[in-house]
Amino acid sequence: MSLVDHLKEIICDPERVLTNPATVSRLSRDFYWYSPVLKELLSDKVGDVVVQPISVEEICAILRLCHATGVAVTARGAGTGNYGQAIPLQGGVVLDLTLMDTVESIHPDGVAICQPGAKLGTIENEARRHGWELRCYPSTVAKASVGGFLGGGSGGIGSVAHGGLRDFNTVRALEVITMEAVPQIIKHEGDAIHDILHAWGTNGIISRIWLSLTPAVTWAQCVVAFPSFNEAYDFSEQIAISNHWTKRLVTTFESHIAASFTPIRSIIASGKAHIFFMIAASQLDELQQTAKDRDGEVTFAALYDGLRTSPLLSDYTWNHTTLWAMKSDNALTYLQCGFNPVTARTQFSQLKARYGDDFLLHIEFMKNSDHIVVPGSIPVVRFSTAERLNEMIDFCREIGVSVANPHVNHVEGGGRYRQDHIQLKAKRKYDPKGLLNPGKMASYQREEDAH
Ligand SMILES: Cc1cc2nc3c(=O)[nH]c(=O)nc-3n(C[C@H](O)[C@H](O)[C@H](O)COP(=O)(O)OP(=O)(O)OC[C@H]3O[C@@H](n4cnc5c(N)ncnc54)[C@H](O)[C@@H]3O)c2cc1C
Repeated sequence: MSLVDHLKEIICDPERVLTNPATVSRLSRDFYWYSPVLKELLSDKVGDVVVQPISVEEICAILRLCHATGVAVTARGAGTGNYGQAIPLQGGVVLDLTLMDTVESIHPDGVAICQPGAKLGTIENEARRHGWELRCYPSTVAKASVGGFLGGGSGGIGSVAHGGLRDFNTVRALEVITMEAVPQIIKHEGDAIHDILHAWGTNGIISRIWLSLTPAVTWAQCVVAFPSFNEAYDFSEQIAISNHWTKRLVTTFESHIAASFTPIRSIIASGKAHIFFMIAASQLDELQQTAKDRDGEVTFAALYDGLRTSPLLSDYTWNHTTLWAMKSDNALTYLQCGFNPVTARTQFSQLKARYGDDFLLHIEFMKNSDHIVVPGSIPVVRFSTAERLNEMIDFCREIGVSVANPHVNHVEGGGRYRQDHIQLKAKRKYDPKGLLNPGKMASYQREEDAH
């Protein structure tokens, strides 16, 4: 019997075993093309078949079959990851979890219990109906799944107040299904969640998630423009680091970047640097006055009414910024950097002196695990060759700017790999044959190659 026939037998509904080449190709891709380097490397990679399970029992049956037959399995949520995280390098089964999309409950103590394919936007809306909201979410909130966020994401809107996804017990617990002859369902809680977080589906399939929420706030959005990036940065830092302000988003852009936000051109001041805020509605007037006192120009201020609010400023922040910039100039790409909060201004001038408009500053403030709000950054950079891109990365590191390289296709490159190798240890245990998203955990691959 062929793999497809086997799958149709165990899945019972053949409609959920997809073999149409165009469909399989579409569901084998993510936003890898953000990187010109990965675009070149991954364009021809495709799975053999896509399966859409609707239950934990079906996932177990698929994994059992693939384990027995030595077939690779690559988990997929909405496929919005940027580094080819969900692209199968060795064919096999693409395990599309989007039909397992139930928000099972919102606990009165502020915990959402969800299936892996639940959209983050659905969880946010559901949580707000119960007086809670997500602590942090990516700018792809409308599409992205919670399983994919745990598998490949890191933080986003809300991180200025609540840190990244891996911080402060935001992921309370998760269940993971192992790739063994008889797959097990194992619950990870407390520190043990880090075995699985950001492992790109290489060491288990996340099947259930307990996510800590935070009490809902009535938010407002506000845009403030300043003549120079330095003035904008000073003001944004003042708001971001002060406990006085209740905020969900503080994003600072160099003028060239904001110029690419064509749908919201009317709220962009030509030639100026901009800050996009989500701030407590009760502080909106005070924020506007404070900005004016510092010679800032408020170009937009309005209440926020959930994810359908238009314009939705978060659609232009985090890695959406890169998307708008790339739309305006397809030679642009991005890096993911962390600036030193004390020496950031010197680091900015060193980068601008060396690269000028080939390195455009885009700052996202976020709280780190020591509760300090620091300037993270997703700068927009001009691509010419891989060598020049690597030279930029080297220079950043030389001047103390950390870089999580988004132009490599393995867990270790993306900056969330744990130096105590707990993700690798979990892979050895839960995926002894190395069939889950093979090729994406470089340290495991090196061990395999050495044998
Ligand atoms: C325009 C744009 C903006 C973005 N902004 C942000 C941002 O602000 N913050 C951020 O962190 N990311 C951001 N991203 C990246 C991405 O959108 C998020 O990480 C998102 O949460 C991924 O969810 P997904 O469902 O699309 O995952 P996918 O892309 O489908 O999967 C991501 C990874 O997780 C694995 N995976 C998926 N489901 C499971 C599962 N159930 N079990 C185990 N592994 C699994 C996949 O194999 C893959 O390796 C952005 C991307 C784009 C294109």
